[in-house]
Amino acid sequence: MLKFTGQQERLRKVVKEFAEKEIAPIADKLDAEDTCPADLLMQMGQLGFNGVFVPAQYGGAGLGYTERTIILEEIARYSAGLAMALMTHHLGVATILHYGGEEQRKKYLPDLCSGRKLAGLAVTEPSGGSDFMGQQSTGRLIDGEWVLKGRKCFITNSHNADVTVLTVRTGEDARGRAQLTAFLVDAGTKGFGPGHKERKFGLRGSYMGDLNLNDVQVGEDAVLGGVGEGTRLGLAVIGEISRSGTAAIGLGILRACLEESIKFARERIIYGKPLARLTNIQFIIAHNRTDYEAGRLMTYHAVGMQDAGLPCVTEVAMAKFLVCEAAVNAAKRTIDLMGGYGVVNDCPVGRYLRDAVATIPASGTSHIMQVVIASGTLV
Ligand SMILES: Cc1cc2nc3c(=O)[nH]c(=O)nc-3n(C[C@H](O)[C@H](O)[C@H](O)COP(=O)(O)OP(=O)(O)OC[C@H]3O[C@@H](n4cnc5c(N)ncnc54)[C@H](O)[C@@H]3O)c2cc1C
Repeated sequence: MLKFTGQQERLRKVVKEFAEKEIAPIADKLDAEDTCPADLLMQMGQLGFNGVFVPAQYGGAGLGYTERTIILEEIARYSAGLAMALMTHHLGVATILHYGGEEQRKKYLPDLCSGRKLAGLAVTEPSGGSDFMGQQSTGRLIDGEWVLKGRKCFITNSHNADVTVLTVRTGEDARGRAQLTAFLVDAGTKGFGPGHKERKFGLRGSYMGDLNLNDVQVGEDAVLGGVGEGTRLGLAVIGEISRSGTAAIGLGILRACLEESIKFARERIIYGKPLARLTNIQFIIAHNRTDYEAGRLMTYHAVGMQDAGLPCVTEVAMAKFLVCEAAVNAAKRTIDLMGGYGVVNDCPVGRYLRDAVATIPASGTSHIMQVVIASGTLV
């Protein structure tokens, strides 16, 4: 049974009220214009959302990943795109918190928690996001300065992050495998900056695009977690924090589909009666409810393990796989339930479908989730 503490229930209420008041009225606009509102990110910081799992000593709310999931679910209920910006910000924050030195934590975390600054995490390259070890961007240590070269693509917060954690190839081991190192790079560093901005069809309301590294010079204090630690750090953050965050966003979309399908089925009158009287419509609602409850159980179970410090890469992958695929199917079913109204742009469910489809590659595709789940099962 899923049971939240009183504090977690109160947090959900606060986030829900915030989302209904501040996000719901502008959700369609964020989607239409594909803009990421800096003022809302600042407000979320002031409410403690941006540094929810960061200890108070660094300016965070001192809570955990379950609370982060509650926040992301409630925000994604109204704007999955905005939730994606916050989710990715958390990846930069988590990497600094878990792998940064004390100086790096003190330098970055207070501003990232308060909403004054935004973070990002950049690993994907044109050579393929699934091929994490195939990264081609390089870092060379020359006269005490690291020189970074290459291009990252499909990076969330590419055009508005103040600091980005990124991985590059800094050498090779004896078997020729890449040695990756993570760096903290500030916006405005010479040679570093956003390039092409993608026009994505889903999860609009968060920017996604290229980050160019043209002979970017950073000091040795920009190395995060030690030289050669990029693989361990990157896979851990993506495997647990990124995928559970995307699952939380999928859960928000699933709940949006469930709530919209119930509302429409009750209000639409056909044959002189509410649509909800038809058995096939009841089946759609039953399916949406079941998918949401299953996704909820799996996602909160996985982040509960994360909070307990247990290995949970397989559980997180199962939650991400189930929830994001279910969100696509629930959005399609909900559109079917609505007849012609479902395909009209005034109806938000078309947006839910586009958002749900866009969650599939984010944090690793469903194919990769199945590879991870199978390898965690066949051990
Ligand atoms: C909305 C969104 C936000 C994103 N934000 C970020 C971000 O902030 N930072 C970041 O670094 N990246 C980000 N990404 C990139 C994301 O991580 C990649 O898109 C994802 O890892 C897939 O990589 P790819 O797009 O290069 O596809 P590819 O890796 O080229 O995959 C192409 C196809 O091959 C399949 N495939 C690949 N390898 C295997 C395999 N071993 N077994 C079976 N099938 C396989 C895939 O499932 C897919 O169907 C984001 C992507 C999206 C869509």
